[in-house]
Amino acid sequence: MGTTNVKAYGTESADAPLEQMGIQRRSLTVKDIEIDILYCGVCHSDLHTARNDWGFTTYPAVPGHEIVGKVTSIGSEVTKLKVGDFAAVGCLVDSCHTCDNCKQDLEQYCSNGWVGTYNAPDKHLGGMTLGGYSEKIVVDEHFVLKVPGNLDLAATAPLLCAGITTWSPLRHWKVGKGSKVAVVGLGGLGHMGIKLAKGLGAEVTLFSRSPGKEKDAFDLGADAVIISTDDNQMNSVNGKFDLIIDTVPYIHDVNPYVGTLNTNGTLVLVGYLGPLDPFLNTVPMIMGRKSVAGSLIGGIAETQEMLDFCGEHNIVSEIELIKMQDINEAYERMLKSDVRYRFVIDMASLKG
Ligand code: NAP
Ligand code: ZN
Repeated sequence: MGTTNVKAYGTESADAPLEQMGIQRRSLTVKDIEIDILYCGVCHSDLHTARNDWGFTTYPAVPGHEIVGKVTSIGSEVTKLKVGDFAAVGCLVDSCHTCDNCKQDLEQYCSNGWVGTYNAPDKHLGGMTLGGYSEKIVVDEHFVLKVPGNLDLAATAPLLCAGITTWSPLRHWKVGKGSKVAVVGLGGLGHMGIKLAKGLGAEVTLFSRSPGKEKDAFDLGADAVIISTDDNQMNSVNGKFDLIIDTVPYIHDVNPYVGTLNTNGTLVLVGYLGPLDPFLNTVPMIMGRKSVAGSLIGGIAETQEMLDFCGEHNIVSEIELIKMQDINEAYERMLKSDVRYRFVIDMASLKG
């Protein structure tokens, strides 16, 4: 299969900084769309992957799965988009299309292995997929999204992961008018969780361990802020929430949040991946029919639904636009929770 060389930013090992490198993109198959990447959001998963936090990174690794760009070329059977259209790609670039989950538009839970936009086995070129910190990407049209015309393009990029990852649990647990929702952690996912829950009509509370983010949270639409290190504040919301979306990226005690669920309430973990410590105490779960659950991004149809909803409600991410060359500093700031509230890379900086 033919390939094209493109510039990208990636890393050769867990402790090396990201730097410019050359990578290959495949020649178009009949169903492929080639996208000139204009903007790429910076997700905490990019950092986890670059630094091998989850233990399964293959190097060289090129992160980036919040991609917005312009269609530059299409395969002969592509019908979804045409050359010149704006297009988006999120965390998924392939799946089997035949398993029960794929048939139900749950490609993210593909029984035969969904293919992530980066660090997943590449069915076309061999090796691993390489993400959006690059000039161009080639993706099967099924996994390419349409961008609502009224939204700022750079601020739309984070919807492709931070947006869908919070939207999917909000929809699955049927959040609507009058629902009481809480979000744990005000970062990239957290701030989209607040905006989307609010857009669906919920009453929204932020749990943060960072005093100083209150005003921002209210500006984003939160109705209340609870500082999670303050026991009195935590007790004040005992038994309150229908749904809590926990976006904290590192190991932490989940038990205090379970106490703030109401009967039948669910705490859904989307951030930390791994065994919990301390253990979950089942007593409040059994006594109140409370659930602790997990959720992974969202399927393609659901991602389009979220983008269309954001178009109708004028919802985008709060972003700080950076140059590609600033990515290592951005990662350090993300580790200090110093992001308001998503870095987005202006890809012109890589091309120039
Ligand atoms: P982020 O922008 O860095 O935000 C995380 C927030 O969590 C921080 O702003 C901070 O909020 C809080 N936090 C950070 N470290 C903490 C700690 N040690 N203890 C308690 N709170 C802490 O990250 P993100 O991009 O939103 O991603 C969040 C997590 O979701 C990452 O682990 C990422 O890999 C994961 N993720 C999962 C999916 C999925 O499909 N399930 C998809 C995308 C991302 P406060 O300052 O307000 O406390
Ligand atoms: Zn992500």
